[in-house]
Amino acid sequence: ATAKPLPTIRQLPPNLVNKIAAGEVIERPASVVKELLENSVDAGAFRVEVTINGGGTELIRISDDGCGMTTEQLPLAVASHATSKLPDEEALFHVHTLGFRGEALASIGSVSQLTIRSRTVADDCGSEINVRGGVIESPTPCGCPVGTVMEIRNLFFNTPVRHRFLKTAQTERGHIVEAFTRIALANPDKHFVLTSNDKTLYDLAPTTRWSDRIAEFFGGEIADSLIPIESDDSQIRVSGYACDPSVSRGNNRMQYMFLNGRHIRDRSLQHALTEAYRGLLMVGRHPVCFLRMEMPADMVDVNVHPTKLEVRFTDGGRVYGRLLQTLRYQFLKTNMTHRVGPAS
Ligand code: ADP
Ligand code: MG
Repeated sequence: ATAKPLPTIRQLPPNLVNKIAAGEVIERPASVVKELLENSVDAGAFRVEVTINGGGTELIRISDDGCGMTTEQLPLAVASHATSKLPDEEALFHVHTLGFRGEALASIGSVSQLTIRSRTVADDCGSEINVRGGVIESPTPCGCPVGTVMEIRNLFFNTPVRHRFLKTAQTERGHIVEAFTRIALANPDKHFVLTSNDKTLYDLAPTTRWSDRIAEFFGGEIADSLIPIESDDSQIRVSGYACDPSVSRGNNRMQYMFLNGRHIRDRSLQHALTEAYRGLLMVGRHPVCFLRMEMPADMVDVNVHPTKLEVRFTDGGRVYGRLLQTLRYQFLKTNMTHRVGPAS
């Protein structure tokens, strides 16, 4: 048998590296919306406006009134592994921002046409930068208000396989609405607007009452069924609402959990929730809840998943127990008492 030629090992060019990285973070238009909304929140924005056309594949525009960026910062913002959120190595172990990987803008820019216009309060004039399929142009001056506008056109134009996996505009819009909902629920004190094909879907005034924001998304029936939850040990704080069993669902998609301001999905916490409602729901029904947990940043590792949807707790058992106990205690205290069996 003739020997096969030895394969060549080569270092991949940065552009290809970014495209591969984009595959992890940017799955669909909603991933872009999630990443950009998180950036706006991290930038201290008070008002954030999202505009989409064609389910986000034609256009995604996100404008905020956050801190903005200078001309010098723009090329760095779209470079890979470049972030303002990790000042030193230590910072990775107590992350206080939603982002920190410095990958989103580089990834988005490598699989779309990205335009950023931005201005800081210190500057009289803004700057614009364009990235097309990973090719970064030099910034140019432009007029714009303080803050940042991100425009993404033709998502996945240069990644045909990913483009083919896109669903209908309606389905993609649904995913965008969900990403928008998660961020807007996590930040009730900020103004969020979502417009799709010139139709305003949401215009959410800032509020200090979380239940107001929940009501804007899910309506009166849910809002009327909210049971306030509150508990605090020295480190873990749980607050928010669990819904009355009468508004249960056929799936567990309406279980919103936020950890230190970040929306998460966690099997173990979902299990704690199911346990808490044991005996209150018919088989196959799932509770609805809106829960916020706060704990010191070093009790949780958010760096286990590229999109940070999943996290890892240093003491998962304690967090589980805390949530279960808090819910059971509250259920026993409210008029659900007679329906609740002993917590076994
Ligand atoms: P990360 O959020 O992980 O830092 P990104 O690629 O999402 O990485 O963003 C890179 C950098 O660009 C951020 O660290 C931030 O300094 C800057 N940036 C991104 N979006 C905005 C925004 N809306 N306003 C101000 N600065 C921004
Ligand atoms: Mg980011």
